[in-house]
Amino acid sequence: MTAFRTLDQADVKGKRALVRVDLNVPMENGRITDATRIERVLPTIREIADKGGKVILLAHFGRPKGRDPKESLKPVAEAVSQHLGKPVAFADDCIGEAASQAVNAMKDGDVLLLENTRFHAGEEKNDPAFVQELAKLGDLYVNDAFSAAHRAHASTEGLARALPGYAGRTMQAELDALTKGLEAPKRPVVAIVGGAKVSTKIDLLENLVTRVDALVIGGGMANTFVHATGLGIGKSLAEKDLAATAMRIIEKARESNCAIILPVDGVCAYEFKAGAHNHTYGIDAIPEDQMILDVGSQSVERVNSAINDAATLVWNGPLGAFEIAPFDQGTVAAARHAAQRTKDGKLVSVAGGGDTVAALNHAGVTDSFSYVSTAGGAFLEWLEGKSLPGVEALRA
Ligand code: AMP
Repeated sequence: MTAFRTLDQADVKGKRALVRVDLNVPMENGRITDATRIERVLPTIREIADKGGKVILLAHFGRPKGRDPKESLKPVAEAVSQHLGKPVAFADDCIGEAASQAVNAMKDGDVLLLENTRFHAGEEKNDPAFVQELAKLGDLYVNDAFSAAHRAHASTEGLARALPGYAGRTMQAELDALTKGLEAPKRPVVAIVGGAKVSTKIDLLENLVTRVDALVIGGGMANTFVHATGLGIGKSLAEKDLAATAMRIIEKARESNCAIILPVDGVCAYEFKAGAHNHTYGIDAIPEDQMILDVGSQSVERVNSAINDAATLVWNGPLGAFEIAPFDQGTVAAARHAAQRTKDGKLVSVAGGGDTVAALNHAGVTDSFSYVSTAGGAFLEWLEGKSLPGVEALRA
């Protein structure tokens, strides 16, 4: 049972439900190039409509400064309608006359999308007057946009305080997965953190070492740690000025009884290029004129054995430069191993943030993980241990 109010507690029949969704879909020349976000919000829309509620969708699109036709949600309304298999009306403002007329014209079970909430400055300011304008349009509020929950905006936070607020089904799935991943996980918990830089993930690493039993550090950021321990890393990507930070994180891990697992070998090349001639060296023998582009096979074995010891895995960031073959192999091997352990019922695996989704898609394992979050910033802030305003406002 989740600690959040969900649609199970909401009586939507005959009610106007203001539903905050993530429809910030990638678009090129007016065409939607990836409809994943639309697919994810369909269950909540269908459930409320099927129960006889009026579904009034609220969303932001892009980062407009005031009203801007280029950032209109109108084409998205058509796309939602196609995926949903029923009409989706559109109002060209999210407050005022245009919005209230469109809402008044709705029958039970209808779906309406209101124009981009960010056309109004009050949205990002969480302006109480703007919140009230939005609140007038609904009887209750449903938030299904976890990816926007790290922002305290009018449509993500203010409204949950102004109307009875509930988590939609996608939000609920995300909160359940995150609870199983870190809040109340089955132990031991192992985290894998990779990616390019330490500097973007200092808060995340500091939080994780106090929460997990073992932390695997891979990718470019591992080079900074290896350098900090006094070993040569040749021409590898690293932030040598963060050596003290890396040592502080290692020390904090020691105090918290968190094992740190660093690479013991690296796949090295002279250049950052697909197909570059490469060779694997022990981590204490990296040539001065080469760069580490992936973890070596012995490191992968260690990562896999850490996964074998774990009941829960939290993963953010690739173990190597996975976009350029063959430097994707470490990430792919570990991802497939985690996927198999998950399929075998031995592991709860939660992954997300930035390039992680692309890396897991590349490994072909996204569907085999327990949960893969497509929320970038919100997922990272959760890993950092920050409370997310849009989630806090839904607590039961
Ligand atoms: P992030 O967005 O922080 O998760 O970083 C992901 C990026 O890190 C990807 O573009 C990878 O190519 C890059 N990366 C991972 N390992 C390495 C490495 N050893 N050297 C250079 N770049 C890397």
